[in-house]
Amino acid sequence: MEIVLSRIREVIILGSGPAGYTAALYTARANLQPLLFTGLQPGGQLTITTDVENYPGFPNGIQGPELMDVMRAQVTRFGAELLDQEVDKVDFSRRPFTVWAEGQSYQAKSVIVATGASALLLGLPSEQKFMGSGVSACATCDGFFYKGKRVAVVGGGDTAMEEATFLTRFCPEVVVVHRRDSLRASKIMQERAFANPAIRFVWNSEVVEVMGEENRKVTGVKLRDTVTGAESDLAVDGLFVAIGHKPNTEFLAGQLPLDAKGYVRIQPGTSRTPIEGVFAAGDVHDAVYRQAVTAAGSGCMAAMDCERWLEAQAHEPAKHEARAVSGAERVPQAGHPGAGAPTRTAGTH
Ligand SMILES: Cc1cc2nc3c(=O)[nH]c(=O)nc-3n(C[C@H](O)[C@H](O)[C@H](O)COP(=O)(O)OP(=O)(O)OC[C@H]3O[C@@H](n4cnc5c(N)ncnc54)[C@H](O)[C@@H]3O)c2cc1C
Repeated sequence: MEIVLSRIREVIILGSGPAGYTAALYTARANLQPLLFTGLQPGGQLTITTDVENYPGFPNGIQGPELMDVMRAQVTRFGAELLDQEVDKVDFSRRPFTVWAEGQSYQAKSVIVATGASALLLGLPSEQKFMGSGVSACATCDGFFYKGKRVAVVGGGDTAMEEATFLTRFCPEVVVVHRRDSLRASKIMQERAFANPAIRFVWNSEVVEVMGEENRKVTGVKLRDTVTGAESDLAVDGLFVAIGHKPNTEFLAGQLPLDAKGYVRIQPGTSRTPIEGVFAAGDVHDAVYRQAVTAAGSGCMAAMDCERWLEAQAHEPAKHEARAVSGAERVPQAGHPGAGAPTRTAGTH
């Protein structure tokens, strides 16, 4: 599909995880002809996992990459344009907004940011090898697969304590491996973890290797004592890495208000950011739920908020046409005299 560069688009979507694809689906079906940048990880975080059993509609589960392939097929069916490129710069200081990717600029009246968050990992080759089959970054997602098994959790913050406590619903023994001799977690989370008889702590230790069999079954982890340097083996069936997440927002710094951890700020209960016409969806603003279904749900919210905002703007021509770009091709706006068929509401079927 040829991308018309000079055109001012109704909406540009950044990111191709469940949030971005859902936003694309709804905006495409609202006749807004979205342009979506997939980023360097087309399909997002689910492409690095195997079984997804908690996404509604798949009674037998589905492989993460397959789920994202069908989402992509669904959005292209409705005419969304996809570019497998990463956006490295944006200008949200004036409308139409501008985004840059691979040295090229693109303009749109509205932008939906759905660039997700990356789980911080240990950076070991063996961790990559067993990711999705013995190594996980999400207890809510994968805890169920470890019923009756012994697992390790790496980390010392609230997330690690939450993950460890959750895993004791399934696992008779959860070993928390922490590189220091005390936790960073809040007092209440620490107390809960210390009081749980199924949780054991290994202090001053870091995981230096994930061990397993060629059929991709984890059998244990190699630990190094951070004080003495001595190495030892810990037999476990799974490893949960819980050392935090980093929202993919570096390229937005100075353009969009972010919180102290780099997450996009939104108006509670909406997808609206403090910049009018810029919306956010999925893990890029959500440090709490971080699930495919919540990301998809917020992608739908962003599309509907965006569609309604564009519709309102179309009735305020002076404000909307704040800045014209020379040579740019104009897209007829819904509601304007002379526009084509009226835009359908994103929520209609
Ligand atoms: C190993 C693992 C297993 C998981 N298992 C499950 C599970 O079983 N069930 C479940 O519900 N959830 C699971 N999750 C969580 C789930 O994957 C996320 O909550 C969900 O993917 C978030 O969706 P998102 O669309 O917000 O962002 P992401 O999926 O993170 O997608 C972000 C997208 O933004 C793109 N991007 C980033 N920067 C830019 C940029 N500058 N320009 C353009 N694009 C950009 C990326 O390429 C990517 O396509 C798992 C997560 C992990 C890491």
